[in-house]
Amino acid sequence: MALPQIWRDLATDPASALTVTGDTPKIGYAHLHVPVEVIEAAGATPVRLLGGAPPYVKADAHMQAYTCSLSRGLLEHWLTGSMDSLKAVVFGHACDTLQRIEAVLRASARGPEVLAYYMPVNRASAGAFDFLKTRIASFAADIAKLTGGAEISEDALNQSMQRSDRMQQIARQLWEAHGKGAMPFVDLYDALLAAQLMDREQWLVLADTYLAELAIPQKDSGVPVALYGGPVINRDVAQALTQADARVVFDMTGTAGLVFPPADTGLGFAALRKVHSQDDGLGILSRRMLAWPTDPTTLPGSGDDEMPQYVSRAQQQGAKGMLALRLKFCEPWGFDEPPLMRACKEAEFPCNALEYEISNAPSGQMETRIGAFIEMLS
Ligand code: SF4
Repeated sequence: MALPQIWRDLATDPASALTVTGDTPKIGYAHLHVPVEVIEAAGATPVRLLGGAPPYVKADAHMQAYTCSLSRGLLEHWLTGSMDSLKAVVFGHACDTLQRIEAVLRASARGPEVLAYYMPVNRASAGAFDFLKTRIASFAADIAKLTGGAEISEDALNQSMQRSDRMQQIARQLWEAHGKGAMPFVDLYDALLAAQLMDREQWLVLADTYLAELAIPQKDSGVPVALYGGPVINRDVAQALTQADARVVFDMTGTAGLVFPPADTGLGFAALRKVHSQDDGLGILSRRMLAWPTDPTTLPGSGDDEMPQYVSRAQQQGAKGMLALRLKFCEPWGFDEPPLMRACKEAEFPCNALEYEISNAPSGQMETRIGAFIEMLS
């Protein structure tokens, strides 16, 4: 079964999502913890902002060359007018770089509206739920104003949360299809990235058709491996894993497993509603966001506490080794590498750290490094 072409096209060039026209306004968001359900409930299409490939001619006049290419691509799009098709851009409270870009764009005299969305730093604190619910309510009011002024209804929010549950369920089926060898990793990568870049209902329709026609063998195939890292915005990484016959069984990357976990987290909106029946839609959304797996851009402190758990979970899933992926110059994920390496060493679990760039050109070096690592594990 061929993958829908639109998934391939969007994953190959995520910036092309900015130019797709549709009936609904588009709102860009620059961090995985932004509540897309609120954007959708306001009648807009959420589009994840992932920058784009070089050159960054205009952006590089303002930024140091040692800033990550995701943020340089974002600024380039802003300065060249590529984001003018968006109604607004939303920045999650993430790394220092994204926070500074948000401030720069806010001060800019041109371009779409800039909104910020904050998560509580200490999610376990007594006031975290109330704080977050208030923040989401204020965010919802801002988004509603931008998209026509009507307050976001409880019904619209519920529908969007149901859609998210369906997407998570379909994503788990895609992960399973990958595990059984029916779907090479690059196809899974394309499907999951496209889900963050296009109309979500349209994605579901395509996914249902794709899965209905997919023949799924009954046994696992490929070399089981775990992935850990930030946003992976280079399709070559997925292609290299596919060529090496890797089977990804554990994924904590910012564009795949942290958005669409391979296994059920128990954090579906319907499941949360059963436990917290007294909550309204914003309350359920807040509970989910507080419990959702974090990443180093939002989690304070050292990764030494978490890494042994991640390594142990990867081993339980049958992974034979861990590939740590990091966009060049990305500091938050870079800080995670030493504790991850320590945890892997202590568990005698093979680990390889790979730095990559957003690029137009295929990287033979990456293919060789990933290929050699997977071969070593097989
Ligand atoms: S988290 Fe890393 S990749 Fe993402 S914007 Fe910040 S520095 Fe760049």
